[in-house]
Amino acid sequence: MNSLPLHKLEVMITAEEIAKRVGELGREIEEAYPHHDEPLLLVGVLKGAAVFLADLIRAINRPLEYDFVAVSSYGKATQTSGEVRILKDLDASVQGKHVLVVEDILDTGLTLRFSYLIESLKARHAKSVGVCVLLDKPSRRRVQVPVQHSGFTIEDRYVVGYGMDYAEQYRNLGYIAQVEFEKEYPD
Ligand code: 5GP
Repeated sequence: MNSLPLHKLEVMITAEEIAKRVGELGREIEEAYPHHDEPLLLVGVLKGAAVFLADLIRAINRPLEYDFVAVSSYGKATQTSGEVRILKDLDASVQGKHVLVVEDILDTGLTLRFSYLIESLKARHAKSVGVCVLLDKPSRRRVQVPVQHSGFTIEDRYVVGYGMDYAEQYRNLGYIAQVEFEKEYPD
């Protein structure tokens, strides 16, 4: 922790508020996929969505499977090259399944757009492809990404906790906090 710059955390969304909203998202998703004989696959984008996905699947009362993908961060290089690599792909076929991509935060939208994850799932004959995000920061959007389910809309703040990190720290917080940086907003 010594290498982190000086900053402080301020609670933005409590564990209770998260639990309530995740329960509501569960109901929303049950209603969106009412036919229990149609397979539903939730795909978490590592690592940030892992904690959210773990709670969300238990809030959905219908048959489902889950899996994870990992994509490289778009970083500075990608803003020119427009490339985000899929580092870990799905283990099984998506053919004929409803696929719901689960993300921690939709910020600029560049990761989902330039990983071509949604397009790739459609090309592999998923029955449908939807997106569920825990947090949406619309003011930072650079490319539009259609979102079917969204937990909270937040201001342009850097947040940590509930799976989300700063320099790999704070993922284990049960709540979501905003980070007040002394120096800079990280990429
Ligand atoms: P986008 O490509 O939409 O700009 O960003 C998506 C990814 O950037 C998120 O999945 C997350 O990994 C990271 N990200 C964006 N904003 C934040 C933030 O406020 N806190 C953290 N920890 N990660 C963020």
